[in-house]
Amino acid sequence: MTFILFIYGACLGSFLGAMADRYVTGESPLFPPSHCATCSTRLVPWQMVPILSYLLLRGRCGYCQAAISPTTLLIEGTAAISLTTWTPTLTLPLLWLGLWAFAALCDAQTQTFPGWLSWAALGISLISQPWSIILLATSLFGLIRWLWPHWSHPWIGDGDLEMMLGYWVIFGSLSTAHWLLIACGLALLLVRTHTSLAFLPYLTMSALACWLWP
Ligand SMILES: [Zn+2]
Repeated sequence: MTFILFIYGACLGSFLGAMADRYVTGESPLFPPSHCATCSTRLVPWQMVPILSYLLLRGRCGYCQAAISPTTLLIEGTAAISLTTWTPTLTLPLLWLGLWAFAALCDAQTQTFPGWLSWAALGISLISQPWSIILLATSLFGLIRWLWPHWSHPWIGDGDLEMMLGYWVIFGSLSTAHWLLIACGLALLLVRTHTSLAFLPYLTMSALACWLWP
């Protein structure tokens, strides 16, 4: 079962990475079929196997030898390992995490992500929550949505806050504090820029770390 989940996870990671790349370039999710980002040559099936193809091709395109980002392997590997933790009760949190991981992949490259994603993630986080939490979370979500367009230079993105809200709803206050501490620590350690920073990737890395090593 673990091996099957690992394969599903690797495929899911590969799909999320490809969809994020297409969001960044503005390509349709369906057309053209999978191709090299440099020479645009269409890939054959054995070049599209998650994890294995990257290793067999030694991280290069089989046609033009352009380097394929190691992030591809990292995303596929992380998604594969994350999904091996699946049990039926963890379906919704994993789905929520997958959505925000996709947002983080888009955010890392463009500092934006598809707008529908926040709504979908909020909906997932509120399933089977008490009415008091649903009312509080939707009010706070509405407040963020209303305030941010009026704020000329916000010092934190609305997407970051929406992910924090969802994390708090699903995992509780103490876990949220740990998660934020690790995310901020990672950003301080890894960031070498003083301009605006895509924070969702750090929040997602921290969430995955907390997920895999609770
Ligand atoms: Zn190529």
